[in-house]
Amino acid sequence: MNRRNLLKMATAASGATLLSKREAAAQEAVNRANRGVPSPKIKDVQVIQSAPAGLRLPVVKVVTDQAGLYGYGCATFTQRADLVVMAVERYLKPFLIGKQADRIDDLWQAMYNSSYWRNGPVLNNAISGVDQALWDIKGRQANMPVYQLVGGKVREAADCYGHASGGEIQEVIDSAKQYMSRGFRHIRVQVGVPGMAGYGARGAGTGAQALHRGPVFEPAAYIRRALKLFEECRKQLGEEVELCHDTHERIHPTQALQFCKDVEKFKLFFLEDPVSPEDIAWFRLYRNQCATPLAMGELFNSPHEWSPLISERLIDYIRVHVSQAGGFTPCRKMAIMAEPFAVRTAWHGPGDVSPIGHAANATLDVVSYNFGVQEYSPFNEQVQEVFKGCPVMKDGYLYPNDAPGWGIEVDEKAAAKYPFGYGERGEKKTLNGGWGEVRKRDGQIIKQ
Ligand SMILES: [Mg+2]
Repeated sequence: MNRRNLLKMATAASGATLLSKREAAAQEAVNRANRGVPSPKIKDVQVIQSAPAGLRLPVVKVVTDQAGLYGYGCATFTQRADLVVMAVERYLKPFLIGKQADRIDDLWQAMYNSSYWRNGPVLNNAISGVDQALWDIKGRQANMPVYQLVGGKVREAADCYGHASGGEIQEVIDSAKQYMSRGFRHIRVQVGVPGMAGYGARGAGTGAQALHRGPVFEPAAYIRRALKLFEECRKQLGEEVELCHDTHERIHPTQALQFCKDVEKFKLFFLEDPVSPEDIAWFRLYRNQCATPLAMGELFNSPHEWSPLISERLIDYIRVHVSQAGGFTPCRKMAIMAEPFAVRTAWHGPGDVSPIGHAANATLDVVSYNFGVQEYSPFNEQVQEVFKGCPVMKDGYLYPNDAPGWGIEVDEKAAAKYPFGYGERGEKKTLNGGWGEVRKRDGQIIKQ
């Protein structure tokens, strides 16, 4: 080794000492600012892959370098669950190891930009899993439920709606009466259409005159049937109960315009997804022509979708699937953005949201002044075996857990008893948990 190289090495060594001194001073300053609570570093990122109710519910577990300090987050994209698992394990995990777990917004922005291409359901769900796990960690560290970290409750619990459905109108009404007897004040009503695959109702079928052999759906027949349902609901259930209905983007925008006007007289609490996200510009017409309250957003991935609808006051309820939009952090911002425009929240909450996601929903519900209503689906025995501490339903109100973080512990041994694919049959099994297809009589595919 010559003299020049020796000199180089000596300079590098003294540089390293200088850097570590500077780092130590910076860390000391951070510790002082944090009142001595050391900043947890991310040590591991895992995905728990469980389907206790026959729906694939990927849940991200972020483990820190502090003993016993970890958190869970909902990353539930059940139709493409394997891809979310890969996005977390192959891309986010190496990106996050060693980073500070207590810088939630910073990490959200970093993850969002880390793929360069953004706003997709797979990546948003993966980010959500980490984001919500970080909130869980912060809550556990502070020994507080997340709702306390973002300002505390503005209401005691979240008013929910349940799903009343059936192949026949009377079945739907009987189911609605059961919900009402359990204290629910809001009910979503969906009825099947004879010989067709209606959304959200039993009685799916294939049409005898169809030019194909798959499930059939004809928008006009569905609309006529739905109008009869609302009429009968008002006759038998009265005016007091709040009725919701989901069109599930299945009809043409022009038909949706007429439908929004026709249902006006039934005074629905809201009509959901009258059109597909591709057609959101149509909301300007609906708004100008009728007073039916409109809910939208289940499929939204991007601020470019929800921002104009909120800022132009074109909808009444923003109904985003929280993990699909990137997690608790962006949805909290969305709720705050919507408040001055008097747009209320109705976060997506059926069985394809994990209990961690339901806890995040319930948290947003109780801390947001502009909360509207919460969709609810019960947690079956197996779900409660895996997820200990699910939000509690009582008299139509959902209560978030008061334990630190989301208040939920995942029993990973129980989770392993219900792997992805558990309970799946038929097309769902063949398609690896994917969504099937529905076509018009003539074979044209239906958006759904
Ligand atoms: Mg929906």
